[in-house]
Amino acid sequence: MTDFSQRFIFADTDIRGEIVSLEQSLQEILGNHNYPAVVESLLGEFAAAAILLGSTIKFEGSLTLQARSDGEVPVIMAEVTHDKTVRAIARDCQDASSDDFRVLLAKGTLAITIDPKHGQRYQGIVPLEGANLGECLGHYFEQSEQLKTHVKLSADNQRSCGILLQQLPVGKVGDAELREQQWEHISQLVGTTRPDEMLAVSSHQMLYRLFHEDKVEMFAAHDVSFACSCSRERVLNAVATLGEEEARKALAQTGAISMNCDFCNSQYRVEEIDLSSIFNSDNSQTVH
Ligand SMILES: [Zn+2]
Repeated sequence: MTDFSQRFIFADTDIRGEIVSLEQSLQEILGNHNYPAVVESLLGEFAAAAILLGSTIKFEGSLTLQARSDGEVPVIMAEVTHDKTVRAIARDCQDASSDDFRVLLAKGTLAITIDPKHGQRYQGIVPLEGANLGECLGHYFEQSEQLKTHVKLSADNQRSCGILLQQLPVGKVGDAELREQQWEHISQLVGTTRPDEMLAVSSHQMLYRLFHEDKVEMFAAHDVSFACSCSRERVLNAVATLGEEEARKALAQTGAISMNCDFCNSQYRVEEIDLSSIFNSDNSQTVH
């Protein structure tokens, strides 16, 4: 299993953790795109982060992590579903070259959107303040959920990995000072890890290196895979929202409406016969 996420807890503490490692799915995300190297790494981090954040989703639906900025990468996003599929994309960033996160995503904002299939959509937006995506997510959780959170991410164009630690609300440990000590100890261990060290070993080796003196309980790992939610049905729905007049105009210009999914490169072609069924225009008596 090369692509997985896995939950763990530290015994006798209120601290939970999650690790993620992506190889095959990262390569599918990056495939056919020719992104600059710095964008490939950033996409890897976004994909890993989305998996970490989405690991607690208990409903059918999706979680999207999206940044917009005035920097070298204007838009970047990763989306995960409850069944642990991931897709990700960056736009308009062919000239990106900085290795500084603050230049790539200068004056950026980070939006986390949780979209249940049934129920209310939720979105939180924070300024991108931090030297890397992990730090920004730490700030996000402290502001929005008041939960101490430490996120560390690392990626190149072959592999992406991440670790999330979170101090849960008071549970097993009633003593405030002990809670604080435990958090300091465990988050400091992660804080000392360099990104290149994370990529050099497997996620399980990394956990062992960091926490072999602490009691860690691992839960079952979950497979992660690349998948795209685009479909012909969605394309036809998008054409329907154009309205018949606009759609027919677009079709008349080129003979067919072509659409290409940016995430997975699928090609969709909408022709005259499709418009007829979308707009039901074989019924000339329809009054609009
Ligand atoms: Zn697609």
